[in-house]
Amino acid sequence: MNLRIGNGYDTHRLVEGRPLILGGQRLKHPDGLGLDGHSDADVLVHAVMDALLGALSLGDIGKYFPPTDPRWKGADSMVLLEQVVALVNDRGWQIVNVDSVVIAERPKLKPHIEAMRGAIALRMGLDPDQVGVKATTNERLGPEGREEGMSCHAVALLTRP
Ligand code: MG
Repeated sequence: MNLRIGNGYDTHRLVEGRPLILGGQRLKHPDGLGLDGHSDADVLVHAVMDALLGALSLGDIGKYFPPTDPRWKGADSMVLLEQVVALVNDRGWQIVNVDSVVIAERPKLKPHIEAMRGAIALRMGLDPDQVGVKATTNERLGPEGREEGMSCHAVALLTRP
């Protein structure tokens, strides 16, 4: 079978004193909150990377970029994404498409969706129409709804020509 599918999930806390970076874009939260983490905490890109790795049963990003490793402190997740895509391609697989949904109460993500898709596609060597980015609030329910954090689910489909 020359198709593989993978899914990825990630969540990061919203805190004061951190930038809010999603899909490689620096956004503004109305209360000035940002995502906390060892790297830039780009929850969307992290979920996409885990979906890619999952499709080839290669583990998760913690295996390749452990939070205990000072090399990845403050890392640009887009650079890590390039490395994961290279790993997939090196194994002879091509990405058919990825899709994702970010769960965040605020800020409104809709105005930034196209920029996120374009930036992610560029880093992955894909067309924007191969990269789905969607956003939903959690109707003020749960940790995302209380703005304690943001989370993201992603899927990736790979093919081997
Ligand atoms: Mg993460």
